[in-house]
Amino acid sequence: EKQQLAALISELSDLSLITDPGRLERFSRDFAWFSPILTEQLADKRADLVVRPNDETEIKRVIAACHRHRVPLTLRGSGTGNYGQCTPLEGGVVMDMSALNQVRWIEGGVARVQAGTRLVNIDKEARPKGWEMRLLPSTYRLATAGGFYCGGFGGVGSITYGSIGDPGNVLGVRALSLEAEPRELELRGREALDLYHAYGVNGIITEIEFALAPAYDWQEALLTFPDFMEAVRFCQTLGRASGVIKKLLTVLADPLPQMCGLEEQVPAGRTAVLCIVAKPSFDATRELCEQYGGAIALTQEHADVYGTAHSLIEHAWNHTTLHIFKRDKGITYLQSGFRPWENVEKVEQMYRHFGDEVMMHLEFLRADGALTCSGLQVVRYTDEQRLNAIIQFHRDHGVHIANPHVYTLEEGGKLEVDPRQLAMKRRLDPAGLLNPGKMRSWEEEAVA
Ligand code: FAD
Repeated sequence: EKQQLAALISELSDLSLITDPGRLERFSRDFAWFSPILTEQLADKRADLVVRPNDETEIKRVIAACHRHRVPLTLRGSGTGNYGQCTPLEGGVVMDMSALNQVRWIEGGVARVQAGTRLVNIDKEARPKGWEMRLLPSTYRLATAGGFYCGGFGGVGSITYGSIGDPGNVLGVRALSLEAEPRELELRGREALDLYHAYGVNGIITEIEFALAPAYDWQEALLTFPDFMEAVRFCQTLGRASGVIKKLLTVLADPLPQMCGLEEQVPAGRTAVLCIVAKPSFDATRELCEQYGGAIALTQEHADVYGTAHSLIEHAWNHTTLHIFKRDKGITYLQSGFRPWENVEKVEQMYRHFGDEVMMHLEFLRADGALTCSGLQVVRYTDEQRLNAIIQFHRDHGVHIANPHVYTLEEGGKLEVDPRQLAMKRRLDPAGLLNPGKMRSWEEEAVA
């Protein structure tokens, strides 16, 4: 193995390479430290080499060299994933895609960008043309287009546009195969989705085409409610109000606002709702807020704070968890999905059952077109056994848990093999060198 690696390094010596152990360590990590279980499991996983190609020609050279020497290849955008998605379980090469950062074109509500483009930069170019990204993870300032598509789900915008994997949000991708002579494929529509949320195990994406949204002037508002369930019902009503144009609708049950850095704005004992709505929708939002017993703690123009730490986005989605982690090492989190026809009822059931052990952070969103909410509950961690019992209780009561404490695709997501993703891996990575160990169904097939 050492010889193969040495040969590969000498073939690629004119590219931008990292071999320094400290930097190799850094480029092998993402935010898996959110999970005490993953932290332990991934502690010794490290790349042998990091390559930062400047263009597709260099990418193809890296691919061909990995194929020739049978060295694993794992892709990296900005490394903001949560489950060791870009951590190379079997070492080898980590390919940093961040130099492929050009917006190719923006036209008629569509943006075509290189995979390493930071999402914030797509918005910067789209806005003057009257468009903006439909969906952004709360890490949008760092996260890349490729990393979002292959590792993410949704976030800001999901209340209107669902997830990045919903048909119509991404129109196509350009992908390369991992073979002696890498093939170039333009995958459109349904076929492009076979690479969605696949952790880069079944193809190397070099370009993505996003459908955009019309750009609005947005208003951010931080609301507070004396009662958690009234806050939830407010969100359910606002979420369903078709005339109110929305970008974000987050609930943080007491004491989460006190734990995540909102204690100056949110009095102790109150639940916070973070919302971003189009300016013309703000009056309707305020009226509804009053109807449900809420009060406005803060308003700000989104345009003034977008791209800074002052936006409410920085307290939504997994950023809530991040802020809490910085202050309190004794917690961990869950990712859950409530079914649309019973979301409010199940939220209440879980809230009453677990009390302060599982603190409710909800994100309202559209799933297959229906309004519902997902949870990023903050859990007071005791041990793995108790955490698993909490997960099981949710599952037993019809609440889906996408376990953030595992690194394989199947266990972390839908809990089942996606035959189309597997077929795409056979097609684009027949040697099984892309991010090995992450797709359990592939490993099992290889053993069989
Ligand atoms: P990386 O972490 O670098 O990569 C993610 C995966 O994609 C890896 O498996 C990698 O191998 C693969 N990959 C990267 N580039 C390519 C490519 N060109 N071709 C093929 N595969 C590739 N996620 C959300 O969806 N919504 C959120 O709101 C959200 N909030 C977050 C908040 C915090 C504080 C943190 C730490 C994470 C959050 N995440 C969220 C997770 C993560 O930030 C996003 O998914 C982000 O889009 C990942 O982008 P990245 O460039 O950092 O990807």
